Formats: sequence, structure tokens, C-alpha cells
Amino acid sequence: SRKVQPSAEELVEGILAGNITALSRAITLVESTNPIHLAKANTIINSCLPFANKSVRIGITGVPGVGKSTFIEAFGKHLTSLGKKVAVLAVDPSSTISHGSILGDKTRMEELVKDLNAFIRPSASGETLGGVARKTRETITLCEAAGFDTIIIETVGVGQSETAVHSMVDFFLLLKIAGAGDELQGIKRGIMEMADAIVINKADGDNIKNAQFAKVEFNRALHLFPAKKSGWTPKTTTCSALTSEGIPEVWNTITEFLNLTQSNSYFFEKRKEQNQFWMLETINDQLKSNFYSSTGIQQLLESTKKAVQNDEISPFAAATLLLEKYFTK
Ligand code: GDP
Repeated sequence: SRKVQPSAEELVEGILAGNITALSRAITLVESTNPIHLAKANTIINSCLPFANKSVRIGITGVPGVGKSTFIEAFGKHLTSLGKKVAVLAVDPSSTISHGSILGDKTRMEELVKDLNAFIRPSASGETLGGVARKTRETITLCEAAGFDTIIIETVGVGQSETAVHSMVDFFLLLKIAGAGDELQGIKRGIMEMADAIVINKADGDNIKNAQFAKVEFNRALHLFPAKKSGWTPKTTTCSALTSEGIPEVWNTITEFLNLTQSNSYFFEKRKEQNQFWMLETINDQLKSNFYSSTGIQQLLESTKKAVQNDEISPFAAATLLLEKYFTK
């Protein structure tokens, strides 16, 4: 016998009561490509919205192997020990290609996964970063409505996805390890500039000295960047995700940041800006995918591409032609 699916109202009720099954089901609807599911997801999200927003959203990035999973496990355990409810989400568009998520992988967070005050959800799959990011954004709302007060969003420090994660969090943390003398060369300037904190992981055993040295270097480098709109001066600290040394200090840094940015209102202004940004992003995304997938356009696009290649029509005239065709159909 087929089980009757719970209604949107039932799921909202479950989410607001902190029911993890209801939360997971709603996230599955958000991640679906079925328009009926998406409509149901939208209803749920709208009902959850008044109960969301009361959390701290922390983005964590770093290259593979830097220790993100290990760090999130130690950091997450520390947060739940303080009585917090922690949700771990991930943005990883590449997981579609590799057919299996590297991020938010539960088997790599064995302790946290058993913690009743933690909820771990691997990255949504999707063809575009925009699609994956939208799903994560909406999942944040659902988790907050379910009572999670600390949202951690993990991403790999290798592409556009840091920028997407940066635009959905309050605090952005860059995880690094001390390198062999090239502390400053390995990082893209843009990511350094986005960071509210740099945490040098694996500061244990023989690595402690190198990590301390790297900390001084990074702090020096951070001071070369222009002052942030938040009024916050980014900090570098060291930690060992293996021994948990330095992990409480990471949370202390975030608390300091929150105290500052909530008292100067930056925190709230940024969230408002982010909401607007995601609306516009979604419009851009949907217009684009709708344009390229519309049948009338697909055919015309192919012939026009050739005409442009052969200088029979200018690229701009061709684009105008295609857009006019699209908007007058
Ligand atoms: P991710 O790819 O960034 O998620 O990295 P992982 O968390 O999977 O860690 C990669 C490797 O580094 C694993 O073998 C971990 O055990 C190790 N590792 C992570 N954190 C630490 C640390 O603080 N100290 C040491 N010595 N090793 C660590």
C-alpha cells in the first residue's frame, strides 16, 4: 500500500516542533525537480519564514585535505556542549559530477552524526551552482524554523562556490594549514578578502611551530586589506581539529564578531541585502535556463551562432534578435 504523503501543513507543524523526519522530508521537496514538489516546498518555506532568521550562519571553506570535516566535527561537538543546536549543510555543485558528495559526508563526522542536537545534510545535487545554492539557502530557513540556532555551511575552496556561500552566511571562515614557506602564495586574494577569520588547522605535534609562524604571516597579510564595512578586523587563530585545542577560541572569535556587528547593526543590514541578492540571483538563473531551454530559441540560436561566426551579423545585433524573439513569443 502506498503511504499518503504528509501535507504541507503537517510538515510545517512537524518542523516547528523540531521533528527531524518532517525537516528531512521538506528538504527533499526543496531539492526536487518536480514542479508540484517545488510548489509544496514554497508553501512550507513561506510558513516557516516567520520562525526562521534567529540563528548564526557560519560559512567554512578550505581546500580538500585541510581538515574541514574533522574541524566541523570538533567545532560542532563544542557547540552542542554549549547547549547549541547545530545544522551542517554543504554547497558542492561538483558532487553531481562525481556522483557522491564529498562534503557533509556523514561517515566523516561520526561523533557529530550521533549527537541529537546536530543535523547533517550533504550537499544538494544540481547542474548549476545557482541551483545548488538556492536549495541550500532554503534549507537554512527550514533548519532555523526547526530550532537550529547555529548553521554551518561547508564548501570546497576551489571555485565560485565560496562566493555563493559568502552571500548566505554571517561569518566566513577560511581553514588553512601551515605550508612549506608559501603561506601567502597558495590563497586566492579574493577568498582572503572575504574571510572574517583564518583558522590554521593541524597545529599539533611537529606542526605547532609552523602554524604559529603562519598565524603571524596571515595576520600581517590581513592588515593589508582595506577595512571591512562590518567594522570587524579579521583574525587568525590556530587549532587542532584532532585534539580540539583552539576550537573554543574559534567560537569566542565568532561571538566577538556577533557582539560587534549586532550592536552596530551591520549584521541585520547584511541579511537584508542577502535576501535581496538571492531574489535577483534566482530571477537571473531562471530567466537564463528558461531562455536556453525554450524550443523556439534553441533552433534560432544554432543558426544565429553560425551567422555570427561568419560575420554575417554582429554579436550584439544577433543577441538582440534572439532576446526579442524570446520576449515576444
Ligand atoms: P577535508 O577534506 O578538508 O574535509 O579534510 P578531512 O577532515 O577529511 O581531513 C583530512 C586529513 O587530515 C585526515 O586524515 C584527518 O585525519 C587529518 N586532519 C584533520 N584535522 C587534523 C588536525 O587538526 N591535525 C592533524 N594532525 N591531522 C588532521
